[in-house]
Amino acid sequence: MPPIQKPSDHYDLVVIGGGSGAMGMSRRAASYGTKVAVIEEDGRLGGTCVNVGCVPKKLMWHAADVAESLDHASDYGFPGVKRPAFDWRTFAKKRDDYVKMLNGVYDRNLAKDGVDYISGRGALTGPKSVEVAMRDQDGKFEGEKKTITADHICIAVGGRPVIPSDKDVPGASLGIDSDGFFALKEQPKRVAVVGAGYIAVELAGVFNTLGTETHLLIRHDTFLRSFDPIIAETLQEHMGKTGLNVHKRTNIKKVEGQKGGPLTLHLDSGKTLEVDCLLWAVGRRPNTDYLGLDKAGVKTEDKSGNIVVDEYQQTNVPNITCIGDVAGKALLTPVAIAAGRRLSNRLYGPEGLRGKDKLSYDDIPTVVFSHPTSGTVGLTEPEAREKYGDDQIKVYQSKFRAMYFGMVGEDHKEPTAYKLVCQGKEEKVVGVHIVGMGSDEIMQGFGVAVKMGARKKDLDDTVAIHPTSAEELVTMR
Ligand code: FAD
Ligand code: NDP
Repeated sequence: MPPIQKPSDHYDLVVIGGGSGAMGMSRRAASYGTKVAVIEEDGRLGGTCVNVGCVPKKLMWHAADVAESLDHASDYGFPGVKRPAFDWRTFAKKRDDYVKMLNGVYDRNLAKDGVDYISGRGALTGPKSVEVAMRDQDGKFEGEKKTITADHICIAVGGRPVIPSDKDVPGASLGIDSDGFFALKEQPKRVAVVGAGYIAVELAGVFNTLGTETHLLIRHDTFLRSFDPIIAETLQEHMGKTGLNVHKRTNIKKVEGQKGGPLTLHLDSGKTLEVDCLLWAVGRRPNTDYLGLDKAGVKTEDKSGNIVVDEYQQTNVPNITCIGDVAGKALLTPVAIAAGRRLSNRLYGPEGLRGKDKLSYDDIPTVVFSHPTSGTVGLTEPEAREKYGDDQIKVYQSKFRAMYFGMVGEDHKEPTAYKLVCQGKEEKVVGVHIVGMGSDEIMQGFGVAVKMGARKKDLDDTVAIHPTSAEELVTMR
């Protein structure tokens, strides 16, 4: 269903943004009979996750995973199977078609649930009114304008990648960001990825596994520094062995060349690096520039610009709430969706939920789609020691090779490393940190266990599933 042409003048709820959070919020609200509109400026629904995030990223990860399996095929009894060159152009087209299909599913879901989808840029003009600017023929938001009023407004506008300014790093804008990664039509031969978080590790992993000469430039000694050290250390050592060039304590001083490459990177070590593509993955910032927050008096945090909310997703303006990345906490799709659904339960839901429901931000499980994947829930070992004191913490760890790699050559073997962080006499499991084949799928169940307050004894009392890697998590001594 295309966006509606004639929006109403007034809604019970207007959600600005059409991404993960907005979908959760608007559809749940509509299920309670609320009259809802979603305003999306991008011309397609789904937001970051569907269009330039989780979905196309996971498909690229799968492509890289297939490449690894092809490398293992001859060791698994398929003599002569060799990995052919990856056809980036064809695969990117297929990936984009899949995303388009999902955009259609989102359109239909909103229509089915009776949510009005309005295409345009939303800006607050007061605490209960939003002006929607449509695109003109040039694609600018200078077309027709319409003001809509609402009893309640939810801000769900997400964020976008940041790159350093050309003033700070001359030539920085010759590089691309994660949005630009998904626009690449051809596979670069040599790439430099700058950053040390989820996106840098995931995209450097995809490039490296698919055969691009890949350089990862990090400011410190390790990447994924907010994760438990077992993950960062195991991954960094392994990815280094697979050919990823990790440049520790390295910053770019200047970039020379042309958009589309080749580029010369002048490093602070005094060396230079020649690449075809430079990808900045140094964080994201909230999409609040055009939102008219000042007109409604909505407060933001000074440094990050994130919208300030309380534990109920409430801003400082009574009828304006905010969910997802723009609130700056746990920037993950399921968090945005869950926060949106619970907020609708609180505002419009049945007795028992109305006035009360909220998302707990504790013990959120998350996965990095690295090579191999890694997952985490709860406190890291350093966080647990800091919070409870060393004498309260017992750590169980195990490092081993998954059986799968018993069959493959030394060059292709991958490590597995697991850690349980337990607290107190009862040995409550306050952190689970895993890296190794299948960690992405293993993590969800252990997320449930931690959320339920599992003790080490509960894991021990669970019969192992054999032969798997995950069984190690219930048999650790
Ligand atoms: P968004 O999904 O960003 O939606 C906001 C929407 O608002 C956008 O469509 C935008 O166009 C629109 N908008 C902005 N301003 C306006 C305006 N003024 N008027 C109208 N519309 C507006 N998370 C995971 O859980 N797992 C992953 O594997 C994962 N991978 C990722 C990979 C990458 C490369 C990136 C960048 C992110 C990834 N994330 C992942 C994070 C996830 O995508 C976000 O946490 C999630 O999309 C946030 O949802 P949201 O609703 O807050 O914002
Ligand atoms: P992150 O904030 O996770 O990581 C960016 C990191 O880059 C920083 O932590 C910092 O690490 C490093 N950095 C910052 N500035 C510079 C600089 N100038 N030069 C070099 N390095 C720098 O941001 P991402 O963009 O990776 O991801 C944004 C969010 O999206 C994530 O936090 C996550 O919530 C979500 N996401 C989730 C995914 C998933 O669930 N699998 C996948 C992708 C994204 P340091 O201080 O160590 O240098």
